[in-house]
Amino acid sequence: MSNAFFNVPIAINEPVKAYKPGTDEHKSLIAKYKEMYNQAPVEVPMYIGGEHVKTNDKRPMAPPHERSKVIGHYNHGDASHVEAAIEAALKARKEWAALPWDQRASIFLRAADLLAGPFRDRMNAATMLAQSKNVFQAEIDAACELIDFFRFNVQYMTHIYKEQPESLPGMWNRLQYRPLEGFVFAVTPFNFTSIAANLSAAPALMGNVVVWKPAESQMYSAQVIMELYEAAGVPPGVINMISVDGPVAGDVVFKHKDLAGLHFTGSTGVFRHLWKEIGDNIANYKSYPRIVGETGGKDFIVAHKSANPAEVATAMSRGAFEFQGQKCSAASRAYVPSNLWPEVKKLVVEQVSSFKMGSPDDSSNFINAVIDERAFDKISGYIDYIKSQDDAEIIVGGNYDKSTGYFIEPTIAVTTNPKFRTMCEEIFGPVLTVYVYDENAYEETLHLVDETSEYALTGSIMAYDRYAINMALEILENAAGNFYINDKPTGAVVGQQPFGGARGSGTNDKAGAAMNLLRWTSARTIKETFVTPTDYRYPFLG
Ligand code: NAD
Repeated sequence: MSNAFFNVPIAINEPVKAYKPGTDEHKSLIAKYKEMYNQAPVEVPMYIGGEHVKTNDKRPMAPPHERSKVIGHYNHGDASHVEAAIEAALKARKEWAALPWDQRASIFLRAADLLAGPFRDRMNAATMLAQSKNVFQAEIDAACELIDFFRFNVQYMTHIYKEQPESLPGMWNRLQYRPLEGFVFAVTPFNFTSIAANLSAAPALMGNVVVWKPAESQMYSAQVIMELYEAAGVPPGVINMISVDGPVAGDVVFKHKDLAGLHFTGSTGVFRHLWKEIGDNIANYKSYPRIVGETGGKDFIVAHKSANPAEVATAMSRGAFEFQGQKCSAASRAYVPSNLWPEVKKLVVEQVSSFKMGSPDDSSNFINAVIDERAFDKISGYIDYIKSQDDAEIIVGGNYDKSTGYFIEPTIAVTTNPKFRTMCEEIFGPVLTVYVYDENAYEETLHLVDETSEYALTGSIMAYDRYAINMALEILENAAGNFYINDKPTGAVVGQQPFGGARGSGTNDKAGAAMNLLRWTSARTIKETFVTPTDYRYPFLG
């Protein structure tokens, strides 16, 4: 019986392993990658009410860097599976919601330790295979960020529960943080294994039951997440994973009276569509569903004339091209002053030209493949567009080839038009567009940055002039939910830089922070009066 106020372990960020070639950690991860690559093709079931559900619709999974290699199949479902998953979730709800919080905490703390230990190589290797991340990108995402999500969320949960109202003499006021009345629908993107897991785990930690729909291109690593949940002791039905076409799932979920929340990360267009579906069905729900969505970005780097050219060039090459630019935070537009451009250009072209591209099992490759054919065609379409225009020019990269895998050279274009299409639209690939501005037009340029895109996710200012830094903070106040000074605009760490953007980039509920967890609770205020009045007459009545 829980009869004490328990303290949870203090969360600290999981140390990131460096994977220097020749070390044991490097050998172990590459061996796991090879083992998973060479094993018989796996079959990924759906997970509904603790059952592993298979169908006749088996769809192949191939690494983006080797499209002909089948590493397994996932079982694709239909509307009946969505209905079954909702039913299983609702069946599990009563017992899960009633489980003391410390028991829920234990499950996710155990998940963190399993992932830090026996699951680490497997989760990283699955992410290298499924999403074509190099060892370091896999480590910071699939291992460290996810471990941090689990541990910090447990700690933030206790902060929330400790937040209690005042009580005057004669009464006791309490706040109970109930889970939502219904189920939460988690819809996740391909690009971060950690986000895929966190979107189902965060509501579950707060006592909710979840139907989770991963992106089809992430199914291989999604399975390892479900295996981790099973090993950690998440009870059957609490998190149900389905693989169904988005609109098919949406059609059942958004019409269901017990939909209590949407936890979404993905593109802005899809999020707007889902919000509208919820709006169209609003009169049919038992409660108003919580809508949390982190979406697209058109993230910027602004350099001031006082910046250091080598620092600007490195912020550009790392910020734009790590994980092939497939980060919502990736720099995709840069504003460089005329005095620095010749040196920045020389350095950044040198850096990008030295990138090696290929399979992630060769750790000398900085760049791997983009996720799938649809992404490849979209990104290469943007590159062709740049080539066809007079007001932009490619200074490095520009080639692409999908014969073996979906490889696109990191590409930098320079434009004379600050509203050029690739300065405004999210490409979600390794393409950076640069606008060179008059070094004396800094303030106007900041206004331009603010007004150029519909998004407001991340951005950075590179400068050594303190007045210039402060001016950027003020003019760009609403242009980014994560703002960096003298750093690249990527690489937010749980517990350190709570992540999320506003405007077209999302509801800014900051994943991995108490703000997000609060959305998965519905507080009940309890007032207890100790000596209850027995006469209706107040003193003023005389
Ligand atoms: P996407 O929008 O194509 O897909 C996201 C999820 O939505 C997938 O699971 C997909 O199957 C599902 N989906 C699509 N249509 C649907 C429908 N009609 N009904 C229900 N579900 C539907 O995004 P993606 O390509 O997987 O990921 C890339 C996008 O995610 C980029 O725009 C990126 O900026 C964004 N992203 C944002 C953040 C952030 O924190 N802001 C983080 C990662 C990715």
